[in-house]
Parts: sequence; C-alpha cells; structure tokens
Amino acid sequence: MCVRCKVWQVDERRGYFFVNASSFVAVVGDASLGVARRRGERGRRTVVMKEEETAWTYVFDLDGTLYPIANGYERACRTRVFEFMVKHCPGVETVEEARSVWSGAFRRYNQTLRALRSLGFDGFDEEEYWAYTRSDAKEALAPVESTRAFVESLRGKKYVFTNCHEKQAKEALVALGLSDCFDGVFGAGDMGAVCKPEPAAFDALFSRFDVRDPSRCVFFEDSLKNLRTANRSFDMVTVLIASDTLTEEIDARAASRRLNAAADAADDDDDDPTAFVDAIVRGGELTIESFSRASFKPTERAVEACADALRGASCT
Ligand SMILES: [Mg+2]
Repeated sequence: MCVRCKVWQVDERRGYFFVNASSFVAVVGDASLGVARRRGERGRRTVVMKEEETAWTYVFDLDGTLYPIANGYERACRTRVFEFMVKHCPGVETVEEARSVWSGAFRRYNQTLRALRSLGFDGFDEEEYWAYTRSDAKEALAPVESTRAFVESLRGKKYVFTNCHEKQAKEALVALGLSDCFDGVFGAGDMGAVCKPEPAAFDALFSRFDVRDPSRCVFFEDSLKNLRTANRSFDMVTVLIASDTLTEEIDARAASRRLNAAADAADDDDDDPTAFVDAIVRGGELTIESFSRASFKPTERAVEACADALRGASCT
C-alpha cells in the first residue's frame, strides 16, 4: 500500500471495508481509483483513501485568532479608524462621534471600510485607509511560538481569511513570525464588495483556493458571527477563540434584543449563541495546550480534524 494512503476498518470475513464518516474512497487496483463515493458506502477488497482527498483544510481568521485580542493591537487599529474618520468623513468632528457612528454600522457589516462606504463616506482612498489604520504591526505584534507550534502541528492546507486587506494581513503575519505557515492569505481586497460573515465571501475563498468540500474545513475564529455562517451555510468545523470579541458580540446581541432590532434579531434563534460551535478555546490564545483544553465539546469531528495538535499536547 502506498504510504500516503490510509486504510480504515477492513472486514475481510465479510469481504467488505468500511470507511469512516465523510471520507472519499477508492478501490485498490480498480481503474476507478480516485473516484469519490459517498459516506457509508461499501466496496470489495482493500480500500485506500488518497491523502489529498481526505485531508482537512484549516482556515484561520487573523485578528483575535492568530494573536490574542487582549494584546491591544486590534483596539489601537480601531482608535486609528476613529481618527481617520474625523479627518476624512464629513460631519464627523470628534473621536467620540466617530465611535458612535461606527458602532452601529460595524455591527451590521462586520468590516469598517464597508461600514463607512454604506454610510456614504467615499471621499477617501482605500489604500490610504488601510495603510493608516493598520500601520504599526511591526511595533505591536511579536512572534508567539506556542501559536506557531499549533499551526505547524496541523497537516493540510492552511489559509488566512480576514476582513483586513491582504497586504496589511501579510505584514501582520511577518510580525507574528507566521508568514511561512500558510498556503494563502485571502483578505478584503480579494473579497471585493463582500466580507465575512457573508456567505459570498466564503464562496470566494473556496473558489480562490479550490476548496471543494467545505465540510472538511476547520475554521478558527474569534467572531461568532463569522462562525455562524461557516456552520450554517457550509457545515465547516467551527472553533471559537473565546475572548473580549465574544463578550462584545454577546453584549451587542443583548442590546439588540432590548431594542428589538430586526436585523440582528434574525440571528437570535437559540438561547446559547455558542451552541453550534464544535470547540471553544478559552483564554483568547490559540495554542496546542489551549486547544487540548477546549471546553464545551469538542465534537468528534473537531477532535479528528485536529488530532495532530492533540497528539502534540499528549506528548508535552
Ligand atoms: Mg477576528
């Protein structure tokens, strides 16, 4: 058998093999090698699973996922957004006004640039906006070896999926010492007119990197909104990095309920807003150790998808 292939549960007595859930299978020696079959099917003789067909794909958000939101960089970027608005958005005179204008629009669009455009602020250059608001990654971010170890422990394609522009995202990855860990970075410039959590942004990601089966993708995120789309629209495995982002979103959800805001009320279909996620990493930092202590579940498929990281935890 090819060392790059794996065999699951061969039952020679019955002449069947059984393939684990959601895997693609092929029959050794059969001309149909590589042809996908649906989960639960049986076949004769030995079964192999080609690695490239069964591997997991890992998708990472940037801010609050590949570095802790508590380090203050994202908050500093937000402050610079308000300064930028005072300078470039007519009618916005103070940072406090900017914060007030921004908060409602951001909650709706989940990306500041889109929020500002939606408010009719279009008299500034996008490159200038990104360069100003994300200007000091080198000073604010530093390599975190434990996060790098987690990312490196996972075998499979890895992508960064962020509402930040990809140019500044790549600069941040350099500062974090992670620039060589990923197979691609997909950011605001790539997404064009859409952004997370819109399903169209996910479709664009999958199309760019030829991801054919989103249910074999694990999505690491600190925003529940983005994870909700990943779960509901694409059946991705979802890992929540619980931090102040979650607290903010839950507070905003509660405020929205109080105000009976129709736009957000549509998302409030369960009492526990985190009930759908496959794993919750506490402490705001994604490491082998924090993932191994992931609370609430993790679900069976989250364990399978991140088995390499969990093996690393058991060895330490
Ligand atoms: Mg984030």
